[in-house]
Amino acid sequence: MPATDRNAELFERAQRVIPGGVNSPVRAFRAVGGTPRFVTRAQGAYFWDADGRRYIDYIGSWGPMILGHGHPAVLEAVQQAAADGFSFGAPTEREVELAEAIIAQVPSVEQVRLVSSGTEAGMSAIRLARGATGRSRIVKFEGCYHGHADALLVKAGSGLATFGHPTSAGVPPEVVQHTTVLPYNDVAQLEAAFAEHGREIACVMIEPIAGNMNFVRASVPFMTRLRELCTRHGALLVFDEVMTGFRVALGGAQSVYARLIPGFRPDMSVFGKVIGGGMPLAAFGGSRDVMSQLAPLGPVYQAGTLSGNPVATACGLATLKEIARPGFFDALADRTRSLVAGLAAAAREAGVPLVGDSEGGMFGFFFARELPQDYPAVMATDKDRFNRFFHGMLERGVYLAPALYEAGFVSAAHGADDIAATVDAAAAALRA
Ligand SMILES: *Cc1c(COP(=O)(O)O)cnc(C)c1O
Repeated sequence: MPATDRNAELFERAQRVIPGGVNSPVRAFRAVGGTPRFVTRAQGAYFWDADGRRYIDYIGSWGPMILGHGHPAVLEAVQQAAADGFSFGAPTEREVELAEAIIAQVPSVEQVRLVSSGTEAGMSAIRLARGATGRSRIVKFEGCYHGHADALLVKAGSGLATFGHPTSAGVPPEVVQHTTVLPYNDVAQLEAAFAEHGREIACVMIEPIAGNMNFVRASVPFMTRLRELCTRHGALLVFDEVMTGFRVALGGAQSVYARLIPGFRPDMSVFGKVIGGGMPLAAFGGSRDVMSQLAPLGPVYQAGTLSGNPVATACGLATLKEIARPGFFDALADRTRSLVAGLAAAAREAGVPLVGDSEGGMFGFFFARELPQDYPAVMATDKDRFNRFFHGMLERGVYLAPALYEAGFVSAAHGADDIAATVDAAAAALRA
């Protein structure tokens, strides 16, 4: 369906002054085609585009809006904080409160530092891991995204021993020569990499439930082995929980693995998205020992003019307070499961192969017969069908992530009626 006039007009205007018309590439709809919707306002589970059309929102700003848009308590906290001042460049009590709130829910974290984006948090965590271990090599996994820091924009080279290749122009090969990229969920290759490079590895960074290749869980045997190998070789295990933190459970994905693997915990964690409640805020943390390597205590430099911003911390704190209420995650997880079950039932009815999974308020679905376990398997799912389904849903007022390799998000504002309307739309779109 052609986009409404006002969206198309704005997109044309945007493309004249902003590269591709957007400030983050996925918003341009390149993967699915068509005209992006320009959002004018949002409330609860919905947003409205420039032409006044309403959509049920399943991206929630790519995760942060776990309470839905315009939650009254959050709005009030932000308005009050804004009236007290936008930014001081000096410490505030709310930064302490937010650090305490994060630590209270995540036992592996004894200290955190606040920053302004997930990219910044991931980049800083890598520098800290290298500084704390005195080693250079970092290991990441194919299909995991950790922000756009140079050293992390890497894809696997050919063969295990070769170095990674930059995935972006402007990243010199020398900058990624210390980055090893391994396939996700592959125990044998993980073991081989440690056998070869074990003593050089500063850290292994992983999305424990990977949301940047739709929704793929690290298997329990893989995570168990990863923890053992990091411990044995003195490498730090860094959980990138920018997406999963305070989203799949109050204690993040690490609390999910701690239930499955006795005594499990990562060495460092990276947060973003939900902890800012929709404001630019992220964090990285770990043991007091590791974190004390940071300036001004230690030799690892890291800083930020807007870090711990008073309005952003007010937004994050109010959000964390709401989601810590008893029963919040059980209700959110039930609602999200009902969505995935509804989509699967609609697909069965239409004779279309579809599988899905969810944890807490994060979900994924694939046009495939089995849940993919790694990036190549995700990319081998039916893209044409996904793209047609995406547009079918959009026409019917449901806004899904505009690419098959992205996860989806349900908020506490999504009611049973919204889920039912979404499943009805899916049934119609799948039939079509
Ligand atoms: C979103 C995301 C990032 C990057 O965060 P930004 O705030 O966009 O810089 C890093 N890691 C993961 C897992 C993410 O989902």
